[in-house]
Amino acid sequence: MTTESAQSLPFETEVQELLDLMIHSLYSHPEIFLRELISNASDACDKLRFETLTDAALLGGDELGITLEVDADARTLTVADNGVGMTREELVKNLGTIAGSGTRRFLSELKERGADERPELIGQFGVGFYASFMVADRVVVESRRAGEDLGHRWASSADGTYTVEEADGVARGTRITLHLKDAGEDGDDFAAEHVLRGLVKRYSDFVEYPIRLGDDTLNSMKPVWARPKSEVTDEEYADFYKHLTHDFRDPLETIHFKAEGATEYTALLYLPAERPFDLFREREPRSRISLYVKRVLITNECAELLPTWLRFAQGVVEASDLPLNVSREILQANPHLRAIKKRLTKKVLSSLESILADDRERYAGFWDAFGSVLKEGICLGEDDDARISKLCLFASSRGEDRTTLAEYVERMSADQKAIYAITGPDRATLDASPHVAAYVKRGFEVLYLVDPIDEWMLDQLREWDGKPLRAIHAVDDELLSDSEKERVAAAAEEHAALVTALKEHFGDAIADVRFSGRLADAPAMLATTDGALRPHMERAFAESQGMAPPSQRVLELNPDHALVARLADLAGAGGDAFADRADLLYGQALLAEGSPVPDPARFSKLIVDLLGKA
Ligand code: ADP
Ligand code: MG
Repeated sequence: MTTESAQSLPFETEVQELLDLMIHSLYSHPEIFLRELISNASDACDKLRFETLTDAALLGGDELGITLEVDADARTLTVADNGVGMTREELVKNLGTIAGSGTRRFLSELKERGADERPELIGQFGVGFYASFMVADRVVVESRRAGEDLGHRWASSADGTYTVEEADGVARGTRITLHLKDAGEDGDDFAAEHVLRGLVKRYSDFVEYPIRLGDDTLNSMKPVWARPKSEVTDEEYADFYKHLTHDFRDPLETIHFKAEGATEYTALLYLPAERPFDLFREREPRSRISLYVKRVLITNECAELLPTWLRFAQGVVEASDLPLNVSREILQANPHLRAIKKRLTKKVLSSLESILADDRERYAGFWDAFGSVLKEGICLGEDDDARISKLCLFASSRGEDRTTLAEYVERMSADQKAIYAITGPDRATLDASPHVAAYVKRGFEVLYLVDPIDEWMLDQLREWDGKPLRAIHAVDDELLSDSEKERVAAAAEEHAALVTALKEHFGDAIADVRFSGRLADAPAMLATTDGALRPHMERAFAESQGMAPPSQRVLELNPDHALVARLADLAGAGGDAFADRADLLYGQALLAEGSPVPDPARFSKLIVDLLGKA
């Protein structure tokens, strides 16, 4: 029998504020209340376990654990533990006031935010016990402190007050009974066993104490990451990866380590073998790293643990030096997380380095899936010490195999001053490019940059290993020998009339006409003026913003090509024959760089006419 009538006490103002927030929040994941209650129960077991170190009698032979009970008719859910429990004073202090500065800070932050942002913040930070009021309109807590005979009952409907009274027959530990609100149209029913099983598996699987429902233990209690590396089999690593990611394939690589010292944490990261279908569909890059603090899941998407350009890595980091109720801003500013991020970044990059060194084929698979994500890091200017660029694979004029920059540089001859690269839509187009032929003729290898992001990367990656990286689309006479320069000058003099006639014919469509010593077999090609957009980049813009004419190019003529001499003769005669040939020459030069011809109908007619004459 109760020896004292229930005393009604007011909540501290801030608590009521928090409760109102919980009750009226439109947060889309109210289910996190269970994670909070289970984590508190687990803490209570931890505390008792700690106290029994000095007072073994406290435990009384019980196995520590957590029990869920549902009464579907009464619509109640009970979360009970046989942990340390609370005295009357502790009930009042812990459940009626806000003790933790973390919660207080969280609250003041919430007030600063707009109403729209609040619900999502709640889910990210966790607000502990009070989250119960998102799903329950009345909460009853019965608790008996370990070592005490008397238990107490705390109860509240979140209406500004709560009651506390003595209670008989309370077992050691804490029993929290939620009088559930109606599930609503599409909300989860927390009185349904299958819902509870799913939630425990999802959020609390790795809690160290058994979480029971009826005769079943719902959680596996075995965090793979917390076990020594030597005791985890490849299969267990792979199973956990699949559980975590819902990927059905094995991971490409597993990175598992424990850091000790100033910042203590355990990390278990995976590199997927293939690109998840949603990786590039997101409007914003999303982290796939879960952050646990002392076995409790804080967030599934901790953006503070890896740079966005490593967002393909998935896994878990468990830290011990962080508070449970942490806000995103607090996470961002946290020096521990910064230290962890630095180390994890290094670890992922160095494991990629070893795969590249040890197993080229495996690495190529990774590169196909995630190379363009990695290159975002170069675009962001985060390629310190070439840590990213040394991991890049590029196609080149050399042949089928892709090359690293280091391998390219290794093959450079002593007289090659720069790393040559060309951007374009695909290997086949670049293989046929007269620009490439010009360099290959001289014995130089040209990197083929065929990934859309390469255009942006080129603007950041100006040099590598002390050698300038040069895109070869632009006018460039540096390559020419003195005799070649003389040859060009002689042709320019001999065919001055042709150059003038072409300039007149094309008018504003091109920037200039000149003879060039670079061309190999092609009669002509188009070069960009200094500082102009590269053709491939220009096409990307044109596609995204509607068709735009190509910017003015320089038409470079091959002094040694028979066609040029023919054209010179026609220029002298004037008339349609010259205009037609000039347009054909320009059209094929555009096609060769992968650009469309301005008037396809006329171009194809010119070709047909030409075929008829042949
Ligand atoms: P936090 O867990 O971050 O401290 P909570 O709001 O979740 O914040 O809980 C407030 C306090 O209430 C806890 O610190 C703990 O002292 C007490 N408490 C909550 N649940 C239990 C429980 N099941 N057993 C013992 N103490 C509890
Ligand atoms: Mg808590």
